[in-house]
Amino acid sequence: MSEKRKIRTGGVESGPFSLRQLMCQRECGELPDTAEFLAERDGKWKRITGLMCDFEVYPDDRLKSIRQAGIRWVMVLNSGNNSDCPACKDLTQKIYPIDGAPKLPPANCSCTPWCRSDYIATELSDTKAKDCDIAFKCVHCSQKIVIVMAGAGLSVICPTCKKVIVVPK
Ligand SMILES: [Zn+2]
Ligand SMILES: [Zn+2]
Repeated sequence: MSEKRKIRTGGVESGPFSLRQLMCQRECGELPDTAEFLAERDGKWKRITGLMCDFEVYPDDRLKSIRQAGIRWVMVLNSGNNSDCPACKDLTQKIYPIDGAPKLPPANCSCTPWCRSDYIATELSDTKAKDCDIAFKCVHCSQKIVIVMAGAGLSVICPTCKKVIVVPK
């Protein structure tokens, strides 16, 4: 895999630039969120905020392997530092059914230099409550939901009606 990527801003191509060069350009505001890079993975132009996906594990692939492991619920994890944009921060603290997980990076992502959001599997299960789980019903559609204790107080997307519900503490 090459270390450099071509860039396109407002229809004008430049580069290729190294990761380090791109990071500098992003951090000093020379490259807008709408700038694109030419992905090596599939030869398509993609938003600069998704650059890490072309170097590390692609979020869609992560989702696929989580699904293959039989896990049906995911959360979104940010980098945890102040490079996380509001759109990415907004995706955390919620539990999503794996088929209803938001796309990463989100379309309006403005993380600088780029998005580090990723999926993590959760132990949430909607089948059987163990002693350590919280069982409750969706306030919108009465779907029975069981969530691990760690989910107390978090917002969950109801697997049935897709509305946001807050897990009781
Ligand atoms: Zn972002
Ligand atoms: Zn519901």
